[in-house]
Amino acid sequence: MPIDIEKDDVETALRKLNAREGSFRLLEQINKLGSWEVDLKTHKSIWSENSYRLYDIEPFSIEPTLEYFLNHLLPEYLPRAQQKIKELLATHEALTFQGKIRSETGVVKDILINAQALFDANGIALKLVGTTQDITAKVKLEQKSQELSSIIENSASEIYVVDYMNDKYLYVNKAACDALGYTKEELLKLTIFDINKELTPEMVEHLKNSYEITKRPYISNQSIHTRKDGTSYHVQSHIQKIYYDSKEAYVIFDTDVTQNILVSELVEKQSKMLQHQANHDPLTDLPNRTQFQQKLSDAIANAKKHNTTFALFFLDLDHFKDINDSLGHHVGDVVLKEFAKRLKESIRHEDTLARLGGDEFTIILHNIEKLTDISTVANKIITAMQTPIPIASNELHITTSIGISIYPEHAQDKSNLLKFADTAMYKAKAKGRNTYQLFSAGMSAHAYKRVIMENSLRIAIKEEQFRVYYQPQINTIDEQLRGMEALVRWKHPTMGLVSPMDFIPLAEELGLIVEIDRIVMKQAMKQFALWYKNRLYPGKLSLNLAMQQLHKSDFSTVLFETMAQCDFKKEWLELEVTETQVMSNPELSIKRLKQIHANGIDISVDDFGTGYSSLSYLKKLPLSKLKIDKSFINDIPKDEDDIAITKAIIALAKSLNLGLIAEGVETQEQKEFLLENGCECIQGYLYSKPLPADEMTKFLQTF
Ligand code: C2E
Ligand code: CA
Ligand code: CA
Repeated sequence: MPIDIEKDDVETALRKLNAREGSFRLLEQINKLGSWEVDLKTHKSIWSENSYRLYDIEPFSIEPTLEYFLNHLLPEYLPRAQQKIKELLATHEALTFQGKIRSETGVVKDILINAQALFDANGIALKLVGTTQDITAKVKLEQKSQELSSIIENSASEIYVVDYMNDKYLYVNKAACDALGYTKEELLKLTIFDINKELTPEMVEHLKNSYEITKRPYISNQSIHTRKDGTSYHVQSHIQKIYYDSKEAYVIFDTDVTQNILVSELVEKQSKMLQHQANHDPLTDLPNRTQFQQKLSDAIANAKKHNTTFALFFLDLDHFKDINDSLGHHVGDVVLKEFAKRLKESIRHEDTLARLGGDEFTIILHNIEKLTDISTVANKIITAMQTPIPIASNELHITTSIGISIYPEHAQDKSNLLKFADTAMYKAKAKGRNTYQLFSAGMSAHAYKRVIMENSLRIAIKEEQFRVYYQPQINTIDEQLRGMEALVRWKHPTMGLVSPMDFIPLAEELGLIVEIDRIVMKQAMKQFALWYKNRLYPGKLSLNLAMQQLHKSDFSTVLFETMAQCDFKKEWLELEVTETQVMSNPELSIKRLKQIHANGIDISVDDFGTGYSSLSYLKKLPLSKLKIDKSFINDIPKDEDDIAITKAIIALAKSLNLGLIAEGVETQEQKEFLLENGCECIQGYLYSKPLPADEMTKFLQTF
């Protein structure tokens, strides 16, 4: 602003001028600015006070020149400075120049020069005037911000700056572009919703609100980014509100956490798997004993709470040990799996099926309303097992025995419910297997008896407490004795005579039957040889042959050695094998029986009609005789079904050219029926109960 001298006196004007100069000086200092002029004629320069300070020297301490400036300029800027001076002299415009000087104290400073040349009327340059500003701080700041930008641009995490108002990207770094597969230009046309497909405006609104409300420095969020190619990945975001380009914006720092999520998913999956393994049986994938215990506790708690009833089934496969021993574990496993499958199909979805181990399974039938609910399921299971299990080219006929206890009727705690169901299961086995049995109070004593029995049985074998009883087999046409069946009796020192029904299933289960049958074999053969020697003609000896015996590799050897020892002729012998046992492993049974038959020994099928023989096997077996089971004879002539079955068996035997015998014949009526229908041979109380050897000797003497 021009100074108005006319209005004020000179003194005031000077004071004002000084004051003005003072303010200019101050302004120059604040702006680190020095002004100068160079007289191009005299080469003399005039510098303002502050111009000296740029070089860290006292004002007016040197004679200022253009050369002084050029000498202190860092050499790399010299050519450009000289070039600029040339340009200044050729133009009427102001020019700028940026460079670096080294001050007298050695400090390097960034400077910005604004200069202009002044010309006379002839266009001759008279002066250069200008300012030099120390812009070191500004340059440093610019550098810093450039460095920071480059750090942000090259950061490994994805960084997005988003317009707070419309959620459009304002800035995206390289990592963001690389991760998403978009170019920067493409991405800057998009909004966050194009990338975070599952994000809705409502969710963003909510995030923004929660940020405002909580006043936290940043908020976190997890989302899924969709790449340009449609693939996606998980990100963890840190979101912060900022100002960008003078706009309200937010910056998002995203880290790809897909790997972490995958790892944690894997860990979770594995721990679930371990948990599953700890609670499940690996073969059938059913709950194991541990899990079953838990389920039983739950069932009790639940039934108590709602005042309901449930049934506990304890199931065991009949003769499973034989299958495992003779056909191997592989076949055993197939059988167990198939059993598990059929059990599952026989119960409701909400019932619990578990495998306790081996061939032992349990079922909890929840919410029982009437007893028939229980028998329905039990029968369903037994029926389900009637279809043979195909194994390679074979078919296995497997049955199960089921014991059942009921909450709260029989017991209200886990261990007793289980114990009682187990006890009932043994009762079912004793009843001849392939059946179910409800627990009854008397059975607890039975379970106790079982333990005693096992010990006693081992002692009995050692001490040969077994006696053979003989039951005659009569031809009703000529009323002649055809032979006798040897039936074992256990003469226990304190229990007295024990029925085979009470110990044979246990002996089979424990594998002790092999020993017992060998004892019986020897005793009976000796007795027969004696009767023959005494000319009492007992006919043929029918020996009951347990499957475990037949499947023993040394069976033939033992058989023939015993015969030799006892002076027993092979034509006196007939072996009885039960249909169910043969069918549990038909191939091996056929092989063994053929060997024995080839040596001249007759074989008959016991309990015929109770199993599920396939005709094809029956044809392959080297049989001489079918023995009609006493369960069919019992109700003749009352039961029409039994009559039909018996007639069918007789017809079958005739068509296969086999001999026949009916067992359990007690009445004259039964005898007549059989005779009429073509079964002449009978065995039963009608003629005689099984008798001990001495009584049988008397019978033979009088017969
Ligand atoms: P099983 O081979 O079917 O024997 C027939 C069973 O019926 C015998 O029972 C016999 O006493 C009984 N019985 C015979 N006639 C009549 C009758 O008119 N009415 C009635 N109600 N029953 C009659 P037991 O002696 O109690 O033998 C039961 C089962 O034990 C036998 O059934 C057989 O499977 C097995 N067993 C007996 N002795 C031996 C043996 O030495 N070795 C093997 N492995 N098993 C044997
Ligand atoms: Ca028999
Ligand atoms: Ca029988």
